[in-house]
Amino acid sequence: MTGIFPDPSHDHRRCASASMAAAEAHCRDRGVRLSTMRRAVLEQLAESHEPLGAYEILDRLAVDGSRPAPISVYRALTFLTAEGLAHRIESLNAYVACAETHTDAQPLVFLICESCRQVGEAKASDLGIKVDAVARAAGFKPNRAALEIFGHCEHCRTDSE
Ligand SMILES: [Zn+2]
Ligand SMILES: [Zn+2]
Ligand SMILES: [Zn+2]
Repeated sequence: MTGIFPDPSHDHRRCASASMAAAEAHCRDRGVRLSTMRRAVLEQLAESHEPLGAYEILDRLAVDGSRPAPISVYRALTFLTAEGLAHRIESLNAYVACAETHTDAQPLVFLICESCRQVGEAKASDLGIKVDAVARAAGFKPNRAALEIFGHCEHCRTDSE
């Protein structure tokens, strides 16, 4: 079993091409268009497991050509997050690519490493039921939930637990 945080020496080109292939299949199935800008933004996010802010994406796109308008990057990010091809990490105001399929009932659980800045996604299948119960006990109707957990990944932690 491979960990949520890939080994620092892993061949990331495989992760990146898996993300792009998953995005292409997703868009084909859903009949939505992976336009040039949407693809370019996703390619930047898929470059690494580190989240990127909108302006970091802009700067990276500007290296390859003319600097796109911020609004077109934001629109692409809105599309990618709505389609589940990327997630917004609220506390970092940054985005990561995602090649997984999620159901709405499951909260997203982000593990954010404070050392290498990589973000992993944990699977927590029973957490959705608990989150739902907590919200409903307060008379609150939840639409979506995300949990952002800060700490150290298996490659960065120094304790021997
Ligand atoms: Zn990778
Ligand atoms: Zn995801
Ligand atoms: Zn780490």
